[in-house]
Amino acid sequence: MSSTLIFRLILLAVSLVMIPVEASVEDAWPKFIQPMIPKINARLPKAQTASPNVSSSLTNKPVVIIIIDDIGDNYRLGKRATDLPVAVNLAFLPRTPFAAKLANRGFKNGHDIMLHLPMESTTRKDLLRDEALTQDLTTQELEQKFLQNLAEIPHVQGFNNHMGSLLTAMPDQMNWLMTVAAEQDLYFVDSRTTAKSVALQQATSKGIAALGRDVFLDPVGDQVSVENQLTRGLQIAQRKGMVIMIGHPYQNTMEVLERLLPNYRDQFQFLTVSDYLGQQKLLAQNSSTTGNKHQ
Ligand SMILES: [Zn+2]
Repeated sequence: MSSTLIFRLILLAVSLVMIPVEASVEDAWPKFIQPMIPKINARLPKAQTASPNVSSSLTNKPVVIIIIDDIGDNYRLGKRATDLPVAVNLAFLPRTPFAAKLANRGFKNGHDIMLHLPMESTTRKDLLRDEALTQDLTTQELEQKFLQNLAEIPHVQGFNNHMGSLLTAMPDQMNWLMTVAAEQDLYFVDSRTTAKSVALQQATSKGIAALGRDVFLDPVGDQVSVENQLTRGLQIAQRKGMVIMIGHPYQNTMEVLERLLPNYRDQFQFLTVSDYLGQQKLLAQNSSTTGNKHQ
């Protein structure tokens, strides 16, 4: 165990003393997280260098998890995502020219590295590439494609879906997929590209640490709308205790995040998914230890 990891565990342990456990576990965090806590695995939290969020984990400020999807085709914009001024989660498209190089850079900068797994959607079949998971694949083919895609991204800790409005609504396919994900000790974030998605339910039923997107930052794309979506997400974090926002490596999105995120460091904790899940695990352990004392 590295000294950095030990230091971070000590900081997290201190934070447990400072956080009112009843309030943070019972009220602030979504209920769907509770069933998956026991399965959170040794992958979390990973030793990272220069993590920007260690000191903020000492507080019970609202948690903001930002995922940047679709990284790998454009080096310049992808690099800006890896250099964002707070901890974020970088989701890489497989078989793209810059995914491996940018994943190494992002990991060194303390961000989480995710596979952005392409899946069949109900529209835009023209955008499907060879590596995408589609409804016509057998169980074995789906497993093989998933593993091939995973192997392309170094330091991968979890995954979310790219497109997938068709496939994430198919219980059998999601069941097969999450079986493999559980074997690989991955976490999952449902991008929620359809309200009919069953991916999060299937992941949770396999004991996978799983979360779902709340807000897309840039469905319109101009800077004012990205700012408005960011504000909306921060309001959700204040109300619920946490929020998951997904953006893309677009020029406007990067400019807004680079400019505004430093202003919110005092009010919010910007966490990687793995740091958030690690906090949850420690809170749950602390909560159960406290409970035992009263038996
Ligand atoms: Zn995508």
